[in-house]
Amino acid sequence: MTEPPIGEQSANASAKRVRERLAELATIGGEGGGGVTRLAYTEAEREAHRRFADWATLEGARCHVDPAGNTVAIFRDGAPYFLIGSHLDTVMHGGRYDGAAGVVAALEAASALSETRHGVRVVAFAAEEGARFGRPTIGSSLAAGVLNDLGLGALRDADGVTPAAAAAEVGLSPTETQPWLDSDVACFFELHIEQGRQLESGAARIGLVDAIAGSVRLQFELTGRADHSGATPMRMRADALAAASELVLAVEEIARRHRSTVATVGRVQVRPNSVTTIPGHVMLWVDLRDVDPDLQRRAARQVLETAMDITEARGLHMGSRVLSEQPPIVLPAWPRAILYDDCRARNLTYRVLSSGAGHDAAVVARRAPAAMLFIPCVDGVSHSPREQASPEDIALGAEVLCSALRRTDAIIASQ
Ligand SMILES: [Zn+2]
Repeated sequence: MTEPPIGEQSANASAKRVRERLAELATIGGEGGGGVTRLAYTEAEREAHRRFADWATLEGARCHVDPAGNTVAIFRDGAPYFLIGSHLDTVMHGGRYDGAAGVVAALEAASALSETRHGVRVVAFAAEEGARFGRPTIGSSLAAGVLNDLGLGALRDADGVTPAAAAAEVGLSPTETQPWLDSDVACFFELHIEQGRQLESGAARIGLVDAIAGSVRLQFELTGRADHSGATPMRMRADALAAASELVLAVEEIARRHRSTVATVGRVQVRPNSVTTIPGHVMLWVDLRDVDPDLQRRAARQVLETAMDITEARGLHMGSRVLSEQPPIVLPAWPRAILYDDCRARNLTYRVLSSGAGHDAAVVARRAPAAMLFIPCVDGVSHSPREQASPEDIALGAEVLCSALRRTDAIIASQ
């Protein structure tokens, strides 16, 4: 049997390591059927961070955890430095690739990099998913100094626990975070699964992200009157769920009217939630996203105004809160151009696309240049146990990251 060429050997070794590490991470918070639950600021998330630090340490890096729970592995000292990474928390019953693929790929890229003039660090950001506290990217936002104590203190999980209280349970103290994402970061690179179908349908191996959608999360509290479902005539009712239903359809309609807006009501709580009682109280959450900041703001305002009109017409009381507002981010062109050159040099099919999902890269981009690289995931499925991506694609993405970093290093140094 003939030996494969050296380049292929290392690519195979890398894909094998990626597969093994992702399988190992999937056992932390792992559930039957391939699902993973590692919510923000839980012991499972911390365990995944420790595993990441163990791997990085074995490869010669020095690791530290900041008070927000972000784990940083220093592979090469020096500033400015390259930062590569993603996150290790998941949604409830999520998959094994969202976030984890980017951290594992970053380890591959960093350990293959040598002799750079820049420092090299790999990061696993904490609490990226908004699934637990309603607000995404808590770890990177604290590190970037774009989330203050007041903003953090206003957040609660489904049991009323604040992020600070949850973090304290696992030995962290996010309110003490000193922002560290600054001009020392020469560039941040994040690899992530696409969570969409554009790469798969275009038969592209790599996606180069030009913009990341922002998001607005709104919470509505509709208060009507809980009455007997048999004894209350239709004209005398203040049905909070009927009003909420109108609002759900209005949210869909508003998003449809705007070119790039997507909006979802994904969570509703009804009280008393009984077959024979008119619903007196409804809590409802709206998630609205856009890559255009003006459209995003306009659509969110329309949702708020429409909710007021609906509740007023039905004689209900309405309370509303903006849980979070993140602006859409256009990523700088130059790091993308370097990735693009690398794809061309390797004869890889690529596609430039925008991300409808939010990412840590959008937060880092507010402090330092940032670039994102997508790899395909099967059927575009994500946030589900059915999420699937190929370790070979992740290893290939890591190689592209690595050579892009080498070129960035040479280009910046020659300036
Ligand atoms: Zn993610």
